[in-house]
Amino acid sequence: MSTATREPEQFTFRAEITQLLHLLAHSLYQSREIALRELISNASDALDKMRYVSLTDEAHREAAENLAITLEGFPDSRDLIVRDNGIGMTRDELVENLGTIARSGSLEFLRKLGEAKADISLIGQFGVGFYSAFMLAEHVTVRSRSYRDDQGWEWRSDGSGQFEIRPIAKDDRGTEIILHLKNDVRDLTRDDRITQIVRTYSRFIPHPIKVGGEVVNDVRPIWVEPKGQVIDEQHAQFYQHLAHRGDESPLWHLHIAVDSPIQFRALLYCPRSNLERLGLGRTEHGINLLARRVLVQNDCRDLLPDSFRFLYGLVDSEDLPLNVSRETLQDNTVIRRIRGVLVKAVLDRLAKLAEDDPETFRAFHDQFAPILKEGVVSEFEHRDRIASLLRFASSRDEQGKELTSLGDYVSRAQSDQTSIYYLGGPDLSSIRKSPNLEIFRRRGVEVLFLTDPIDEFVMATLGRFEGKDLKSIDAADLNLPGPEIETPPTESTGSGFSRVLELFRSALGDRVVEVRESKRLTDSPCCLVNASGGLSTQMQRILQQANRDVPPIGRVLELNPKAVLIARLAELSNNPSNEAFIHLCALQLWSNALAIEGTLVDPEDMVARVQDLMEQAAAGKSSIIH
Ligand code: ADP
Ligand code: MG
Repeated sequence: MSTATREPEQFTFRAEITQLLHLLAHSLYQSREIALRELISNASDALDKMRYVSLTDEAHREAAENLAITLEGFPDSRDLIVRDNGIGMTRDELVENLGTIARSGSLEFLRKLGEAKADISLIGQFGVGFYSAFMLAEHVTVRSRSYRDDQGWEWRSDGSGQFEIRPIAKDDRGTEIILHLKNDVRDLTRDDRITQIVRTYSRFIPHPIKVGGEVVNDVRPIWVEPKGQVIDEQHAQFYQHLAHRGDESPLWHLHIAVDSPIQFRALLYCPRSNLERLGLGRTEHGINLLARRVLVQNDCRDLLPDSFRFLYGLVDSEDLPLNVSRETLQDNTVIRRIRGVLVKAVLDRLAKLAEDDPETFRAFHDQFAPILKEGVVSEFEHRDRIASLLRFASSRDEQGKELTSLGDYVSRAQSDQTSIYYLGGPDLSSIRKSPNLEIFRRRGVEVLFLTDPIDEFVMATLGRFEGKDLKSIDAADLNLPGPEIETPPTESTGSGFSRVLELFRSALGDRVVEVRESKRLTDSPCCLVNASGGLSTQMQRILQQANRDVPPIGRVLELNPKAVLIARLAELSNNPSNEAFIHLCALQLWSNALAIEGTLVDPEDMVARVQDLMEQAAAGKSSIIH
């Protein structure tokens, strides 16, 4: 092919990329040098892939030698070149990789970036790291030759919506990224500046990075070093490399060395923030899998359960064949065993963190509890151990500052207490107001306050914890610890109270399945509970909000004979002329109970009734005045 004469082909970027490029080109982000981290990271990936090919394909045996990344600056022309002898790209790969957006989370990230709701330094997380080059460069030229191609290709763009591709003469395999630097970053052509940036952002890239003919990074992999010899600073930098995050140390890390029955080394890092909470969708990265130092798979999802998908890290094993394929990873016994060890190590680490460093654990919990809860609901594996990491507000500290674990709850439970009690609601203040709590307060039985909608699903899925049933306190049959409460019908309430129950039943009709005497109330006149075997009230509400069919659940209205109002009604009930008034009170108390739990649907009826009652009260008062 005569390469020199051919006209370049023109391409237009997808609209989102054009927007991204515009944003990057005008970015005033202070740490624009992270763009170099992204380019070096891509070069390193390309070397990893080449090494893998050379070890698995006879035809490319020699290619594994001298794999390296070179950075070279040209102060006069203001060019900076990032060069690698990795796998390179064909024409089609250039179009595909540097012109489209492959990952699902990327678009959302770009949108948030546009609204300034996302952090530019995370760009590498979302499969668009390459474009960060336009933060530094006026135009970018990529010259590449794939290991499978005799022809070299050049990609070129000034970041304004189009790119062009043309064939070029290129002798050696690999890729060259040429940044024609903006004037204000022209110092990046100086070796000392380049070296400084490499040492800051890319120090632990496991391939030599050469500046001015010298290797400036630390090629020795830290995971094969003895644990005690790796310092926090090294972990922080390695984590930043894996997670594409600048300036952040991991919240905690794990360095694992196992020699039998399977040999492997692993590093796991927990970030300080949960990206999923930014509404960027599910975290899509995984763990890097290496066989004898060679990367065999980026972002392997089979090494950890979904509940731990927020962790970054790598696993390097001597017992894995290089040609382990993506398809067979899941069934691979070595992988399964490594996964078992990793899961246990993470769970142990978190349990210990909770004990030794409650503050860090709380920071972890604040960020990642939603993912753990999802794990309890959707994964069977390790359900109880994950549940034991969760923390909830409880009646022990009604302000909700101190959270409790299920385990601590059980250790504080009374000796004859067979259940762990909880109450769900939209927020702490409405939960605290529930009359259903009265008996628990009186008897000193702790109740968990659940405010996260998923909490009740967690409880329902668990069913039991450490031998105790998990029970919503709005269930009809409470079976509380302590002596049965004896409520002998007294002279004053006796017959009158039975009559009140009857009148309430007829007033409420099929709004409730039963009206009965309450054994749980001390002050409030009444409360609503769920007939046996039903979903908790909060759970019904969640299902309703999710537009799911909720089977109608029978409600039971409990009346407290000792409450002043009910005792008064009992007296009034002796006179049949008061029946209409008691009827009105029944409906109003029922509405009140619904209002307290947040399930009142017809406030108009209730307002009309309140008005009626006020008129009657006013009439009573005026009859006294006159
Ligand atoms: P990511 O690295 O997350 O895939 P990037 O935007 O950084 O996203 O890079 C896009 C793609 O371009 C890479 O996945 C890779 O296929 C290709 N690429 C970029 N740089 C190189 C390089 N130096 N050598 C080979 N391929 C590269
Ligand atoms: Mg990249």
